[in-house]
Amino acid sequence: MAEQYDTPIIPGTCYRVHDLSRPQPPVVTPGTFSTQDAPGTPPSDAVVLFNGKDLSGWVDGKGEPAKWKAENGILHVVPGAGDIQTEAKLGDIQLHVEFSAPTAVKGESQGRGNSGIFLLGQYEVQVLDNYENPTYPDGTVGGLYGQYPPLANAAKKPGEWSVYDIIFTGPRFNGYKLVSPAYITVILNNIVLHNHAELQGPTQHKQLAQYTPHSKVGPLKLQDHGDLVRFRNIWVRKITGYDGVES
Ligand code: MG
Repeated sequence: MAEQYDTPIIPGTCYRVHDLSRPQPPVVTPGTFSTQDAPGTPPSDAVVLFNGKDLSGWVDGKGEPAKWKAENGILHVVPGAGDIQTEAKLGDIQLHVEFSAPTAVKGESQGRGNSGIFLLGQYEVQVLDNYENPTYPDGTVGGLYGQYPPLANAAKKPGEWSVYDIIFTGPRFNGYKLVSPAYITVILNNIVLHNHAELQGPTQHKQLAQYTPHSKVGPLKLQDHGDLVRFRNIWVRKITGYDGVES
């Protein structure tokens, strides 16, 4: 190992520049990328939320077993079955999830291939079939619904698999006071849609969002909007601060 340099302390830390006593980053073995035909594999430290075979770990809004369909690695929305959510409570995460809009195109605007991914069960990243299907911009696929349109319309053709990589930091409260808002970075099909966007509060429909105090952890929720959207390859990694420090 190299010799310790006589270097200054980095402000806000107890470490010197190039400090040899600073904790080594944990080794994480990367997974593989997905293709249209097959999902990739998750990294070694991922928590896999959908096992590809059944709805283990997923419940409906009443806490009853989720009634969506799982088959051959694919999770199908069952219209009318309601939203589903993980039993696992998640906090600040890196989320990977893939989806496919229905091959049979029907409806327009918000009525085509609508679903959604809700961080902490309440902050929606829109899922919609916006391939040659415009809608109100802040409801476009990848939009932070009702708050920010995506920086690009990165929709694929109906039936093709799209890939979301999302980095989410939940809000922090001190009693009733908001200390730090939620932040989100969203990449869809390798295109940046949001770069550390500051969320204005939990998702609302036709209203302004606003914060009320809530837990640091919550479920991941997927929306049943009545359309035959499919999901696959859903996993998360917990995000801590540098040197493994929890924020
Ligand atoms: Mg939606």
